[in-house]
Amino acid sequence: MLSRSLSARPAMAAAANKAFLSTVGANVPKVPLYINGQFVQSSTDKWIPVHNPATGEITSLVPEATAEEHEAAIASAAEAYKDWRNSTVLTRQRKMMDLQLLIRNDMDNIAELITKEQGKVLSDARGDVLRGLQVVEHACSIPSLMMGETLTPVATDMDLYSLRQPIGVCAGITPFNFPAMIPLWMFPMANACGNTYVLKPSERNPGASMRIAELTEQAGFTPGLLNIVHGAHDSVNMLCDHPDIRAVSFVGGDRAGRHIFARATATGKRVQANTAAKNHGVIMPDANKNHTLSQLVGAAFGAAGQRCMALSVAVFVGSSREWLPELVEMASKLKVSGGMEADADIGPLISAQAKQRAEGIIADSIEQGAEILLDGRQVTVPEKYAAGHFLGPTIMTNVSPAMSCYSEEIFAPVLSCVFVDTLDEAIALINSSPYGNGTAIFTNSGAAARRFTNDIDVGQVGVNVPIPVPLPMFSFTGSRGSIRGDTHFYGKDAIRFFTQTKTVTSLWRSADAEVSRAAVHMPTMK
Ligand code: NAD
Repeated sequence: MLSRSLSARPAMAAAANKAFLSTVGANVPKVPLYINGQFVQSSTDKWIPVHNPATGEITSLVPEATAEEHEAAIASAAEAYKDWRNSTVLTRQRKMMDLQLLIRNDMDNIAELITKEQGKVLSDARGDVLRGLQVVEHACSIPSLMMGETLTPVATDMDLYSLRQPIGVCAGITPFNFPAMIPLWMFPMANACGNTYVLKPSERNPGASMRIAELTEQAGFTPGLLNIVHGAHDSVNMLCDHPDIRAVSFVGGDRAGRHIFARATATGKRVQANTAAKNHGVIMPDANKNHTLSQLVGAAFGAAGQRCMALSVAVFVGSSREWLPELVEMASKLKVSGGMEADADIGPLISAQAKQRAEGIIADSIEQGAEILLDGRQVTVPEKYAAGHFLGPTIMTNVSPAMSCYSEEIFAPVLSCVFVDTLDEAIALINSSPYGNGTAIFTNSGAAARRFTNDIDVGQVGVNVPIPVPLPMFSFTGSRGSIRGDTHFYGKDAIRFFTQTKTVTSLWRSADAEVSRAAVHMPTMK
């Protein structure tokens, strides 16, 4: 009975998918795969709808690529690697230079794709592209980044030097919240180091990745350097398991991150996995009030809170809690609307489920004793966005660590406020959170800032800077529960992740160079 119902499942799913497809207009575009330099339609019968989160309409269908299509993408990358690994570092630098210019010129176009599929407001979507573009710009320094070391002589006539060599085919799995930046954290550094790539973008917003693939083609990337497959869990599992893939980069939630890290390392791959976060901002009473409150509002509610570096907990130290009414007033002035509207500050959440989940956490936290100072659940938006997934800025206070709004990553415009008496209490609170992605202190005291930066156990720290994401000459150094693996994205760590170090010990005896006269006689057999 059990086996019958299980074997019936794929057929039921296929039937449900067919029924779904028949309800979707025939003119809804299907997102292609990008394999071996060609944009090709998948032959799958499983399609996932991509929604505009501001209107709820289906904008495209993304395929769950078949096993054969994954094989083809990986085979293309493996074949391209044979030549690309021997390309000169100047060739690779040139490709990155051409790509960065094309992305810069196309920024508005990519940003619009992001707003329509992800929901964030257009100005913020431009920032999404810019922060990825900066990594491509950094990849243009690949000749000096790839340099190895030499020590000579280590013994008579003996030299010892190290080379950084590429590792092979690499794969990347990305989340929905930065559709341009995070793919650009991954494949450009991999390609610049001499590797080839298979990218699986978020199935919720593949548009930016597809546009960037077109730009790589214009930049003269040869077929196979970048391949794009689509899908969800099955696609990820195929990438984790495939013996020809040497390294996997992942950015996304905890559940997927744990799974991917375990599964891909089990087959001997290198894995870097950036996962969830809960970031605290500490407000000292001596801080510049206006700067602090405006930065806090931007970092808590910008991108509708759907940033892994969003400040979702405000820790008010001592009398700074008296600033709360002004914080509430400032947050209540934010305009919630479709991201394409010129006056919008906050767009929608990615899905109806994300909104429902956030509202559930707010309701639970109120039951657990939190007080709601600003309630975004009743937000009104223009009529044309009535079917969008909007939640307005929400501020909860009297929050304690046991409450859901503190313990869960809500990924929505919800700020939880905690009150403590001293900086030491704030530091102890943050250090007891499982996550270590980012944190910030707002203060005018150098001594407090120094104590905080030294004692806090979080990988990215801001002093009067709310979202301290490092530029690409450094790495994205989230720590503890926010990362699995020990090599960070971009910066010097990217070179470590995407290359293997080879050491060469060579002996060329200088005495052998003394044979200076040409031998003109016939060799004798002495
Ligand atoms: P997600 O984990 O749901 O999805 C990320 C990717 O993993 C997608 O491509 C998806 O197809 C795949 N995936 C999801 N569940 C899977 C499973 N069970 N098995 C195999 N593959 C699976 O994440 P999301 O909702 O798209 O993104 C939001 C999350 O990403 C948040 O938790 C946020 O904190 C995190 N994030 C972290 C960072 C960082 O640098 N730490 C940056 C951005 C986003």
